[in-house]
Amino acid sequence: MALFVQKYGGTSVADAERIQNVARRVAARHRAGDKLVVVVSAMGKTTDQLLELVSQVSDQPEARELDVLLSTGEMVTKTLVAMALHSLGVEAVSLTGAQAGLRTDTAHGRARILGVETARIERELERGRVVIVAGFQGISEEMEVTTMGRGASDITPVALAAALDAKQCEIYTDVDGVYSADPRIEPNARKLSDITYEEMLEFSSVGAGVLHPRASELGMVYNIPIIVASSFKDEPGTIIHGGVSMEQFNRVRGIAHDSQVAKVTVRGVPDRPGIAAGIFEPLAEHRISVDTIVQNASVERLTDLTFTLAAGELQAATPIVQELANKIGAAEVVADDDLGKVSIVGTGIQSAPGYASRMFRALSDAGINVEMISTSEIRITCIIRRADVENAVRALHAAFELEKADVAEL
Ligand code: ADP
Ligand code: ASP
Ligand code: MG
Repeated sequence: MALFVQKYGGTSVADAERIQNVARRVAARHRAGDKLVVVVSAMGKTTDQLLELVSQVSDQPEARELDVLLSTGEMVTKTLVAMALHSLGVEAVSLTGAQAGLRTDTAHGRARILGVETARIERELERGRVVIVAGFQGISEEMEVTTMGRGASDITPVALAAALDAKQCEIYTDVDGVYSADPRIEPNARKLSDITYEEMLEFSSVGAGVLHPRASELGMVYNIPIIVASSFKDEPGTIIHGGVSMEQFNRVRGIAHDSQVAKVTVRGVPDRPGIAAGIFEPLAEHRISVDTIVQNASVERLTDLTFTLAAGELQAATPIVQELANKIGAAEVVADDDLGKVSIVGTGIQSAPGYASRMFRALSDAGINVEMISTSEIRITCIIRRADVENAVRALHAAFELEKADVAEL
């Protein structure tokens, strides 16, 4: 009997009817003879609602209490799914992250998994039970409940699949696979039949929210095949794998976007060794991730340093940067939180020239100004005005002919 780990996201368990739908799907697979561990997210917008409640009682909630509160969302779902399975005559047991053996570090709100103690899950599987696990959460060495970050329910199933040596990890969501762009924005987006871990990691790191980047990363490290498919339809989804993509014939695989980008410019920075480290080290210490960094050529030993970050982090970053700017004698700090970014991703990019110019031409033809650019081997990202993001996605999708069938399928 093969073991599979499944995950059902928030929309797929948003109400009682959808929970019953999940239970029916799980029951069918169980009856067909598969061993199943099923990870669930909080129902619908529960996590947002809990955060909204928090904002009504506290400006600075204690990280420990916040994690305990947020972990309850997933706990409600896992219990209801187990009950729904019992009603269908299926033996099932629901476990919290801690009961499932997910050990994490102590970084509340962004905990990383240190290891999985699988004994309890294995015992339950041996008894023939379906095991339902609350996603997104674990327990630290100090026995504190931790959560792993927004959207992090995707990480739990891949970690469990690796630890339990499962045959495959199946992520069920409200779209039937990974598309060439967010189908909510680009109606011509096309479902990809497969994508490599490397491509998916880049794709989700720059905004393709369908799978958490750390899920692709774990899949890559442990070589776990990951399927992304619909929880509502019985259609083949997208397989994320470690091989060479069958479709990498010099193609851009997808367009990702992120509408929540901010930028900070420190003007008149004295151009001497150690200044960049002096600015970015304190930001790293405050766990603020900086993205694209541009330093202008210096004029009379003064330079401008610009970097982007998630718009949600700007409030925390500004006072830190202002303090440093004062210390090093920089002229001023200017913040802009009205930006977004759009990226093209695909392994084809590394082997053929011309992608960047084609991208810039398509954006300029659409009247979109590029403010900053960053690249990796398989990705090109442009920082643009937030209001231009959706047009940019559609313009690039058309320019790279992503609505057409993959070459391998022709
Ligand atoms: P879940 O609650 O199941 O985790 P999410 O909302 O986190 O679901 O992820 C699914 C959503 O991701 C889709 O509804 C879609 O709008 C969005 N999305 C963004 N980019 C892509 C893409 N390239 N392919 C598919 N979906 C995408
Ligand atoms: N419930 C958490 C969130 O909304 C985790 C997840 O659903 O992936 O971010
Ligand atoms: Mg998600």
